[in-house]
Amino acid sequence: MNETHASMLPDLKERVRKFIDEVAIPLEGTAIERDVEALDEIAGTLRRQAREAGIYGPQLPKEYGGLALPWRACAELFEECARGLLGPIALNCAPPDQPNALLLDLLASPAQRERFLGPIARGEKRACFAMTEPAPGAGSDPSMLKTTARRGNGKWVLDGHKKFISGGVKADIAIVPAQTEEGVTLFVFDTATPGYRVTRDIAMATSYQIGGHAEIVMEACELPGDAVLGTVGQGFEHIQLRLEPARLSHCMRFIGRARRAMEIAQRYVSQRVSFGAPLAELQQVQAMVADSHIDLHASRLITHHCAQLMDEGKSVKHYSSMTKVFVSEAVGRVADRAMQMCGALGVSEDEAISAIWREARPFRIYDGANEVHRSAIARRILHRNLSP
Ligand SMILES: Cc1cc2nc3c(=O)[nH]c(=O)nc-3n(C[C@H](O)[C@H](O)[C@H](O)COP(=O)(O)OP(=O)(O)OC[C@H]3O[C@@H](n4cnc5c(N)ncnc54)[C@H](O)[C@@H]3O)c2cc1C
Repeated sequence: MNETHASMLPDLKERVRKFIDEVAIPLEGTAIERDVEALDEIAGTLRRQAREAGIYGPQLPKEYGGLALPWRACAELFEECARGLLGPIALNCAPPDQPNALLLDLLASPAQRERFLGPIARGEKRACFAMTEPAPGAGSDPSMLKTTARRGNGKWVLDGHKKFISGGVKADIAIVPAQTEEGVTLFVFDTATPGYRVTRDIAMATSYQIGGHAEIVMEACELPGDAVLGTVGQGFEHIQLRLEPARLSHCMRFIGRARRAMEIAQRYVSQRVSFGAPLAELQQVQAMVADSHIDLHASRLITHHCAQLMDEGKSVKHYSSMTKVFVSEAVGRVADRAMQMCGALGVSEDEAISAIWREARPFRIYDGANEVHRSAIARRILHRNLSP
């Protein structure tokens, strides 16, 4: 982070905090949390307000109205905005479009930038990234990818079945990896293409997911010859460009979510009297507060370190795996303690803790299951004799 960014950051953080407290949090509620259309409508309103507040798109290029901040600064703003369940949607730094825009920025041709990246970055259109398939297709093991793309008459013909695709319901644009003769290739195209169908919105534990979680069928989908994103046969290498920053960005946002859960819990235990004294006076409650802040602090340090390495252009393959495993488990512990501290209120939908707790759990599964990351971390250390 250079001096200009460092000097801007305190004011930006304060503006984001105020926006989240005064504009975004009051709009939260069970009526909208799983309603794809309502979330899209709210996104439009909030994004206009975020632009007016000068906080839109911390990570997005300036040509699309973003702030073009380095990762280290984004880490602090993503945390700040994710305190609000609608915050990342408002700033257009929510998944899947935050990593989708990043991938397009790195790989798209000039025509693809204009047609796909511009509308996503300006918040006019949404995209999904559709990799996972029902068994026996790709899940933790991407080499099991069954979706195919065949060449014919200067076009590509795509066939496949995808599942659990965040943002897939009513997405305008799809980014899809498929097997081709030359190896796995990425495609980007309009979801209005004949043969592309969203068959259902899968009910998941999570809420506040813009575009829900789609199951998608592609049958003889004819794509133009220029639908390839990047280089034919380089799909897996290209996907890595998205996955590492994507999992790190999730860590940044989840620290904000867990912080919000603790803010609610700390307020509750300070006010709620039991056995003649506020709960906050009890040592077992104090231990939960202390352990949660230790988890939050350690999560910030490991995440900021990785963000700094990305800003320096260094590989974060190893450290982003460590960071994802640690933070996904730490924020789960924090949300769980916050729930415990609030008793029945924590489990209820009257407070945001239950939504945060439900959101944190799947983070141990997506962006690479923690078991897969642990095994990759250990193999790197043992086989290459890596040391800190
Ligand atoms: C909320 C949510 C959002 C998602 N969004 C998207 C999306 O937008 N796009 C997309 O393409 N996919 C998405 N996914 C799917 C996600 O990427 C997959 O769930 C993930 O890759 C794991 O695949 P799987 O569910 O098929 O689990 P499996 O591959 O069936 O694995 C099941 C479990 O087995 C264990 N396991 C697997 N492999 C190993 C190993 N090598 N060593 C030890 N244990 C192992 C792990 O515990 C793992 O959780 C999403 C999932 C969730 C929960």
